[in-house]
Amino acid sequence: MKPYILSETNWKTINNTPVELAVLPWGALEAHNLHLPFSTDNIETDKIAAEAAKKAWEKGAKLIVLPVIPFGVNTGHLDIKVNINMNPSTQFAILKDIANVLNGHEIFKLLILNGHGGNDFKQMIRELGVLYPKMFICTCNWYQSVENAEFFDEGGGHADEMETSLMLYLAPELVLPVSEAGKGAAKKFKIRALNEKWAWAERKWSKVTSDTGIGDPSKATREKGERYFNSVVGKISDLMLGLSEADIDDLYE
Ligand SMILES: [Zn+2]
Repeated sequence: MKPYILSETNWKTINNTPVELAVLPWGALEAHNLHLPFSTDNIETDKIAAEAAKKAWEKGAKLIVLPVIPFGVNTGHLDIKVNINMNPSTQFAILKDIANVLNGHEIFKLLILNGHGGNDFKQMIRELGVLYPKMFICTCNWYQSVENAEFFDEGGGHADEMETSLMLYLAPELVLPVSEAGKGAAKKFKIRALNEKWAWAERKWSKVTSDTGIGDPSKATREKGERYFNSVVGKISDLMLGLSEADIDDLYE
């Protein structure tokens, strides 16, 4: 039983454990090329949250990790078989209910640990701040916490070398041989500004990639995944510790 994992702890323990920070891992349930499981984002985010919380706890952080929310915003994937979409407005309703409980128990710090590119909690956090002014809510995309190019030869962003390596390390029993994966080739927009990222539009996933992957996974290895996992966990655990110790009335210098 890990006292910093809400699903594993009990009322006796939690009643006697000060909690400064709640961590909410948030993933998605979606096709990941041909070789990775639908729950890839959930597995990655859950394991990163748990291991980072363990390290932070050992350094004195007062935190609790909530169960991963398994459904992400997949509005661009509706024609991909059984890709589950949860609309942003539904996500906001869930977040509001969770924030309401935390606020009621004077747990005023919340970190949303995000593992899915289609999720974006920034505007929701602004609105929650109006509803719960005592709270400090922040979001972090763990996949942006380190420089991925230092670990992997190929980029991409979805079921790519990074995600495949990570899954080979975290849940190899759920990964098909990489020889069965598609190439993860992705088309670009014809409108240049959208590729340069200073303009944005949602991509219709099935028009961009034929195997649902974006990024070539063929050079993925378990060892790369382990190195990357440990590096990300180090960054996220520092963030958790910093948030746990922070005085939210004195955040600036
Ligand atoms: Zn993913």
